[in-house]
Amino acid sequence: MKTALVTGGSRGIGRAVSISLARMGYHVLINFVSNETAARETLEAIGGQGELLRFNVGDPEAVRSAIEGWQAAHPEEYIEVLVNNAGIRHDNLMIWMEPDEWQSVINTNLNSFFTVTKAVLQPMILHKYGRIVNVTSLSGIKGLPGQANYSAAKGGLIAATKALAQEVARKKVTVNAVAPGFIATDMTEGLDEATLKKDIPAARFGRPEEVAALVAFLVSPEASYITGECISVNGGLYT
Ligand code: NAP
Repeated sequence: MKTALVTGGSRGIGRAVSISLARMGYHVLINFVSNETAARETLEAIGGQGELLRFNVGDPEAVRSAIEGWQAAHPEEYIEVLVNNAGIRHDNLMIWMEPDEWQSVINTNLNSFFTVTKAVLQPMILHKYGRIVNVTSLSGIKGLPGQANYSAAKGGLIAATKALAQEVARKKVTVNAVAPGFIATDMTEGLDEATLKKDIPAARFGRPEEVAALVAFLVSPEASYITGECISVNGGLYT
């Protein structure tokens, strides 16, 4: 059984990634934090080829105990693929931004990279095979007004991707980032698509499956010589 962990694998981009990885033959650990109904729907969508793993990616103790618990129950296996996808936004202009809006976004989007990746990295190195894909954002490349917290977290995630990639390349563990633009999910539900799409060369929001297709390629053995990259999926929005 080859195993993949998708944080925030229950909805949106994470759900599409979970479906893609299951099609590739992975047993998918679908992480979520609150919406169990959505998580169960995703498990159903992959024909039960996985399991739910509920923990808050922003809580180091919860991360440690969930992943160590899974590993202890499956001593012969290891998490071969990690997709760090769970994320939140709390947009606000800097002048109005509350400390909690800064901290929670950095914690869920960036600190989680450290705690979750650390929990699965050693077995990947020992087995001399692993794939880590970090879901960052256009906001982390370009910086977007109203998102100083989110841009900082996602920009930090891109830099961490590049650093870790160089640390583990010899061990056949690749570390890459994907940077979506506007993708139609719950996260972008309140946005004014009609106005925003005027600035998108492809003239539409992307679909979660269009991000998942790239993640699936980066996870595949064919992508073994690609590491430390950040690849955009944004309909041409950023140049
Ligand atoms: P979404 O539809 O809001 O789904 C978020 C997922 O993350 C859900 O499965 C949610 O689980 C999970 N999650 C949130 N906080 C969590 C936590 N503390 N611990 C564990 N799981 C948590 O979001 P999305 O649009 O698919 O976004 C997925 C990733 O893509 C995020 O990192 C986001 O920043 C990034 N991204 C999205 C877009 C876009 O346009 N949508 C663009 C650029 C980047 P529950 O259901 O339990 O809450």
